[in-house]
Amino acid sequence: MKTIAVIGAGTMGNGIAHVFAQKDFKVNLIDVSSNALEKGISTISKNLDRMIAKGTSTEEEKANTLTNISTCTSLKDGVTNVDLVVEAASENIDIKLGIFKELEACCAEKTILATNTSSISITQIASATKRPDKVIGMHFMNPVPIMKLVEIIRGYSTSDETTTAIMGLSKQLDKTPTEVNDYPGFVANRILMPMINEAIETLHHGVAGILEIDTVMKLGMAHPMGPLQLADFIGLDVCLSILNVMYDGLKNPKYAPSPLLVNMVMAGKLGVKSGEGFYDYSGNKKAEKISAQFIKG
Ligand code: NAD
Repeated sequence: MKTIAVIGAGTMGNGIAHVFAQKDFKVNLIDVSSNALEKGISTISKNLDRMIAKGTSTEEEKANTLTNISTCTSLKDGVTNVDLVVEAASENIDIKLGIFKELEACCAEKTILATNTSSISITQIASATKRPDKVIGMHFMNPVPIMKLVEIIRGYSTSDETTTAIMGLSKQLDKTPTEVNDYPGFVANRILMPMINEAIETLHHGVAGILEIDTVMKLGMAHPMGPLQLADFIGLDVCLSILNVMYDGLKNPKYAPSPLLVNMVMAGKLGVKSGEGFYDYSGNKKAEKISAQFIKG
């Protein structure tokens, strides 16, 4: 595989484009929003600068990586003649079904169609195409350039050939692919999201404040960051979508999203990407504690 289309230039899409381009794949980064594309390229550039400062990359590698990425707003133009598509658009079933229907019409027969969905059924996404054997979950972790895991999810009809190709490709990116089956939330989010949701409920019930909950989990469980800060990094809208998929799909009330999470998403407090979630990210202040206004008791 040499040419990759990445659909969606948000939190995950720009990271996925970054890691492929750094390994010399030609990447078409596609988004419906040209603003998202500009922001995505700027994020990749800043992340490469950070790597240079740490001594893990060079100016030459940065220039080469950025040269390997083209951007466009037309799905059709970006996906014809690519070997692989990695879809990383918003976590919404209708958006994903629409994209995969269009991919079926625009992509060459050989093209493998992967999705970075966090929770939505690969089998359902594949049903929008006539090539369910070539549809697979390729679930990167955030931040993509740093995190080693890629959760590989086989849909009901995903072929051995497709799985082998995507496992091999993930290794080429220096990642560790791990194969799981197609159930709501797969493995990563089936375990992570109930913990984040419980942290939000703990805050909602006034058991402790934001910093206190995160400190208990960081220092007490040796987690690199607390669950509320992690939720801000993932995006509170993404967390809500994942919990809703698990709640609907597994029919178990333990996955019901916290009403505080629902309220924050409705209020547009989405975490890092909107400048405020459980913490305030405006003015470049990282993870500054906001007041206890969310504690409803
Ligand atoms: P995001 O909201 O940051 O970005 C989504 C991007 O998709 C936006 O730029 C939006 O303009 C674009 N988009 C929406 N509809 C589109 C369309 N029809 N065509 C092209 N672009 C379109 O979302 P994200 O956090 O990057 O999540 C993307 C996917 O990755 C989701 O499926 C999510 O569940 C999954 N994921 C997220 C994380 C995380 O930590 N945020 C981790 C792993 C997987």
